[in-house]
Amino acid sequence: MDTTLTPATAALNVELLRKDFPALHQSAHDHPLVYLDNAATTQKPQSVIDRIRRYYESENSNVHRGVHFLSQLATDAYEGARRTIASYINASDPREVIFTRGTTESINLVASSYGASFVPGDEVLISTMEHHSNIVPWQMLCERRGCTLKVIPVSDEGEIIYEEFERLLSERTKILAVCHTSNALGTVNPIQRMIRDAHALGVPVLIDAAQALPHGPMDVRELDCDFLCFSSHKMFGPTGVGVLYGKQDLLESLPPYQGGGDMIESVSFEGTTYNELPHRFEAGTPNIAGVIGLEAAVKYLQKVSPAAISSYEAELTDYATKTISSIDGVRIVGTAKRKVPVMSFLVGDIHPYDCGTILDRLGIAVRTGHHCTQPLMHRFGIPGTARASLAFYNTFGEVDALADGIRKAKSMLMR
Ligand SMILES: *Cc1c(COP(=O)(O)O)cnc(C)c1O
Repeated sequence: MDTTLTPATAALNVELLRKDFPALHQSAHDHPLVYLDNAATTQKPQSVIDRIRRYYESENSNVHRGVHFLSQLATDAYEGARRTIASYINASDPREVIFTRGTTESINLVASSYGASFVPGDEVLISTMEHHSNIVPWQMLCERRGCTLKVIPVSDEGEIIYEEFERLLSERTKILAVCHTSNALGTVNPIQRMIRDAHALGVPVLIDAAQALPHGPMDVRELDCDFLCFSSHKMFGPTGVGVLYGKQDLLESLPPYQGGGDMIESVSFEGTTYNELPHRFEAGTPNIAGVIGLEAAVKYLQKVSPAAISSYEAELTDYATKTISSIDGVRIVGTAKRKVPVMSFLVGDIHPYDCGTILDRLGIAVRTGHHCTQPLMHRFGIPGTARASLAFYNTFGEVDALADGIRKAKSMLMR
């Protein structure tokens, strides 16, 4: 490994930051754990764990309901979290932040609610590299409404073929729904340009940012996206909570998604009127502890500095790409010019599962399979890959450990 301290590696004291993540400091199969499955879910810093614990120990109560002391405390914490998160993504107003169960539910909400007005002939435009959660809700909608799903192809490098995107985008397109960053390839899409081109034709844009928030800052006003979806657990927060950001006027115009408590203004058997934003889209008791935990994760990221994370990870990506691709017989799937440290790879004719199993025995956690992107795997003519997905707390030394592990797998499995 190259031990020269560049400005980016010096700016982020990774060894020190690692101490904030208790789960990183354990053994797996008698080896130090090397956790490289961050695109599936990230580990949580102590501050997030402590915040959730403190909520249950001393603030636990339902929100928006009671006049009593604890309920007020819980409501303040919950709504405070909304303000923190809104300001983190630079939303104009906290009412533009809707709490959901995660990216999957955020996309389903938009497909269901915004899609309710679609008519036969309308088109939904997505890309080949979408996660199943940005495919299936649109397929279901198209089936219900008689609309057509159009798919932007990707190149051999795993980049959106821009001319094809321009060709597919039209007045018939009712929504463009694409990922900012691919969970399977690591590709960072030219989102800003895509949004500009879509808006030029009056097409609203939903961004699946599940893999964007863990790797750097996000500014919804600069992007000018109409909807942005992300999951807490992919950005060092707890599971079971996520966000749908939507422009206020657009959200105001949408019918409710689920019915129940908290989303209403008044209910009678003659009819119901609905609450204002954001509560109108948050039926039932929300994941209060989860939301508060997500706020703690955002505060943690702010302290570390999302910009410093981006520049450190750029170096980590280069190093990992060089190190892994220099191993004889290894093929990296996804070689886009702009990438986050996600390495999908194949080793000779070894099945990814077998490779993953040997890595696991060495304490190295990678994911194997299709990564919830079966159409993308089909595009590359493969059933799946082994995927090492890194976060800012991963080190150059861990990349070396992965490379050693791959060489070991090769020597054991390849003839
Ligand atoms: C993980 C992921 C999703 C789905 O997120 P959930 O937290 O499972 O709802 C969607 N898109 C991308 C790009 C993802 O990585």
